[in-house]
Parts: sequence; structure tokens; C-alpha cells
Amino acid sequence: MIEIKELHKSYKMGSNSLHVLKGINFSVKKGELVAIMGSSGSGKSTLLNILGMLDEADEGTYTLDGVPIEDLNETKAAEYRNKFLGFIFQSFNLINYKSAKDNVALPLFYQGMPRKERNTMALDYLERVGLKPWAEHLPSELSGGQKQRVAIARAMASQPKVLLADEPTGALDSKTSYEVMDLIQKINDEGNTILVVTHEEDIAHMCKRIVYLKDGVIVEDKKVDQVRASSYVQ
Ligand code: ADP
Ligand code: MG
Repeated sequence: MIEIKELHKSYKMGSNSLHVLKGINFSVKKGELVAIMGSSGSGKSTLLNILGMLDEADEGTYTLDGVPIEDLNETKAAEYRNKFLGFIFQSFNLINYKSAKDNVALPLFYQGMPRKERNTMALDYLERVGLKPWAEHLPSELSGGQKQRVAIARAMASQPKVLLADEPTGALDSKTSYEVMDLIQKINDEGNTILVVTHEEDIAHMCKRIVYLKDGVIVEDKKVDQVRASSYVQ
């Protein structure tokens, strides 16, 4: 599903340059649930943003579902992003003045789906994350965990090939974090490919594979023998 080879990325600041990714190689198959681990500043978000076509690498190749991602213009990149990728962020990124349902329906609106259809679909996805009764509520009326579940429903609604989550539990307490990861595990069980960036070991161990980033390279890439379930953690 994802294949990257010898990926490099530097940030230029004045005459200085910060080499953040120094030759990353890895691939992700359809249906995997992968954690990208590393301390703060290790380049996790930089890598995820490149995978999400929100940023471009300086060197290396990236293939997504068989499509080489290189030198895309903004329009083409946006088209691929909408078609291939769903995003979940630490800060939820919901629109404050829109209801949960309208937040989930918004990407469908941009895809040109008629109103009735997108509202039905939004309700369907809210139901899947257990929030149908909250459909007409504004984000400010929801808890952090509920907001993240709305964001997950929104990411799922456009049926992306890959879900990319950057510290999805970073703003949540541990109990709520485990609930959100439990939902991410369920979505993965349905066959969806998911990458989760985190700096927390316990969250990473709720994934099936952990890729450790350090100083711009992958220092370890391991299968999780015993994937942690949220119900074990109280
Ligand atoms: P992580 O997500 O693992 O905390 P990041 O990928 O956000 O790490 O950042 C890696 C390094 O790159 C950090 O030192 C950060 O300060 C730097 N960095 C990130 N984004 C930019 C940018 N747009 N411009 C300059 N430096 C950046
Ligand atoms: Mg980050």
C-alpha cells in the first residue's frame, strides 16, 4: 500500500539546514496497523506529513497504492489526498460552528455528494463511532474523546485507502486514549490500513507493528507479539 525508499528531508532556516529524515525505507501492506514511535523532534510528523502529501521530500521515492507520488502540482496532490488519505490530528481540527454531523459530511460535500446522501452517510459513520445521538451537537458540547471520535468518523467517511493519525491521543487522558485506540483497532479489524504517530509506548503497543524513529533514521521495526487491548487497561 505504501512504499518509501531512501527518503530525505531537510528544513532550511536562513543559512542553516536541519536534516530531519536521513534515508527512511519502509513499506506498509494493506490492512496493517503501524505505530511510528520516537521522541519529540525525531521527525514523526515530518514523515507523516510527507506520507499524507501535506509536504514533499527532498529525495527518495514514495509509492501509494501503486501510484508514484512525485512532482504533483497542488491540484493533483489535493485530488490524491482526498481520494487516498484520511487524517486524524491531536487537536481534532473540527469546525467549531458546525454540528458533529456537518463536520463528518463536509469532505463529502467537497466530493460533490448530494446533501441527502452525505447526511445519511455522516449519520452512518457517527453511528459506527457510537455518536449518533450527538449528531446535532457542536464540538464545544462534546468531550475530548467524543471530538476525536467525530474526527475519526470524518476521516472514515470518504473511505480512504490509508488513515494517518498524528498523536491522536496526545490531547486525551489515558482512559479516553485507550477508548480512542480501541476504536482505531476496530476500524483496522475491518481491513483498513492505519498509521499512528505516537511517543507513548502503551499506545504504540495497541498497534500490530512499531517503527522506531531516532535521529532521522528507523532504528527498529518490529511486530508486536501481544497487541494490547484497551479492556486490559483500567
Ligand atoms: P516530531 O513529530 O517527531 O516531534 P517533527 O517532525 O515535528 O518531529 O520535527 C522534527 C524536527 O524538525 C524538529 O527539530 C522540528 O523543530 C523541525 N521542524 C519541523 N517542522 C519544521 C519546519 N516547518 N521548519 C523548520 N523546522 C521544522
Ligand atoms: Mg509531531
